[in-house]
Amino acid sequence: MNSQDELSSVAPLHRLAPKSLYIHIPFCESKCFYCDFNSYVANDEVKRDYTNSLLKELTLIREAYFPNGDRPRLDTIFFGGGTPTVLPLLQWEKIAAFLHDQFSVDQKTEWTVEANPGSVNDSVLGELKQFGVNRLSFGAQTFNEILLLAIGRLHSVRDIEKSVELAMQAGFGRISLDLMFGLPDQTLTDVRESVRRAVGFGLGHISVYGLKVEDGTPFAKWQQSGHLHLPEEDAEAAMYEEVRQLLQEAGLMQYEISNFARAGEEARHNLTYWHNEPYFAAGAGAHGYVHSRRYENVKSLLRYQQMLDGGERPLEALSAVTAKEAMEDSVILGLRLREGVNKSAFLAHHGVALDEAFGDVILPLIERGLLQEDEDRIVIPSRYYSLANEIMVRFLGNS
Ligand code: SF4
Repeated sequence: MNSQDELSSVAPLHRLAPKSLYIHIPFCESKCFYCDFNSYVANDEVKRDYTNSLLKELTLIREAYFPNGDRPRLDTIFFGGGTPTVLPLLQWEKIAAFLHDQFSVDQKTEWTVEANPGSVNDSVLGELKQFGVNRLSFGAQTFNEILLLAIGRLHSVRDIEKSVELAMQAGFGRISLDLMFGLPDQTLTDVRESVRRAVGFGLGHISVYGLKVEDGTPFAKWQQSGHLHLPEEDAEAAMYEEVRQLLQEAGLMQYEISNFARAGEEARHNLTYWHNEPYFAAGAGAHGYVHSRRYENVKSLLRYQQMLDGGERPLEALSAVTAKEAMEDSVILGLRLREGVNKSAFLAHHGVALDEAFGDVILPLIERGLLQEDEDRIVIPSRYYSLANEIMVRFLGNS
């Protein structure tokens, strides 16, 4: 064990038992033009085999971390993808039965499922609710039909409306919508209209992301050949500011750089990440953080299945997080939040005061107005959210 491992083994954060579980469902009906997520178009047989492998992985995780047969308590479960709702109900039944049997899951568990508009109907929603799912996150992206086509989404604006209505009728009290800005030829007027339509549902949570062109996607190819016309940087920044203002006027507080919620509607699962707390993750390409290790699963469905058939965890990479890196992560992730980095939580997680670890970085940023500090926290003033990455990077390699 080297000295950094020794340090990491004593960070109190690394002794916490994860209470959150991410499950990756890597299937979609088709690929959106901007998407580099690990997702595939597949038939029911592939989805069945994947589900069986997933249960094997969850068994290995439970046995590895709870060898005495305890059923670990889960405060949050998040099914992401891909499009989890393209999984046939039979496979959902198997996964839900397994989770209830092998883990401690109850009504207090925040159980989120990502869904695409148009990928749900009465019976799917009714079943999900029966399983214990109590939060849905719909990828609406925009309320402009032409833009939906331009980014390769399969659903229509009517599908968004219908899916949200069905989810409300099915009794889901917690529904979130994802929106995007900076789309090809998108205008500020369009962004305003999409926010207005999203707000019109009266939901408790909305996430808003700027488009990023990722390598290997059709958008990357079209950008290279000059066929993708994205808004200029200034126009994109104006869109973000407009979104922030409109959502906050509608009563949705910006609690994170890309996330807005009514009080009490914040995504508890995602708060686990931003608080730099540990979480289990299962599924092809999923990333987890347990004790002092971050792990990444293999992306290939075939390799995933083969490794699990051989009784092996499907790990692509496993890396030790040193005490220093864990402190940097806590600051960088925490600064994404409106609540900022809590000094008491930092001390409890790392056994070192925030000022002691980063005082020489924090002070100059405060002097320039890029950070604000009070007795128990540091925060990025919301007017500087567009500079968040530049501010966060100052904390790397400095503790
Ligand atoms: S639905 Fe989501 S995961 Fe699937 S291709 Fe589109 S963006 Fe990617």
